[in-house]
Amino acid sequence: MDMFRILVVDDEVDFLETIVNRLQKRKLNASGVTSGEEAVELLQKELFDVVILDIKMPGGMDGIEALREIKKIQPLVEVILLTGHASVETSIEGMKLGAFDYCLKPIKFEDLLQKMAAAFSKKSTHDKKIRDAKIQQLIRHPGRVFDQD
Ligand SMILES: [Mg+2]
Repeated sequence: MDMFRILVVDDEVDFLETIVNRLQKRKLNASGVTSGEEAVELLQKELFDVVILDIKMPGGMDGIEALREIKKIQPLVEVILLTGHASVETSIEGMKLGAFDYCLKPIKFEDLLQKMAAAFSKKSTHDKKIRDAKIQQLIRHPGRVFDQD
């Protein structure tokens, strides 16, 4: 799974570092940022497959706001929300906005890994469908593939 790129977004620095380190120890390509603003800035420059996103973050952009922006910038990225018991309602709102799933805090690492694996699988299937559709288009209408991208 090391070709997959993961971005973890959480304002609690200790928690963020722990998660990123544990993912890296499993040879996963993981980076971390501490705010929605930083996440948005990074996603404008680099492609990611999965974003693990804390819902409760202080400052101008909470998790839901960040989710909206992330989906505008990279619609195909799969987002897993991190949420407390008190904000499960917000996770439901997040999933209506296109989040793949959510994990309750305090998170069980194995649970997060399983949800990430499912998100990678969905992303791969989706990416493959897009590639196959482009190949079909190339076969049927050579020359139209690239200007419609
Ligand atoms: Mg938080």
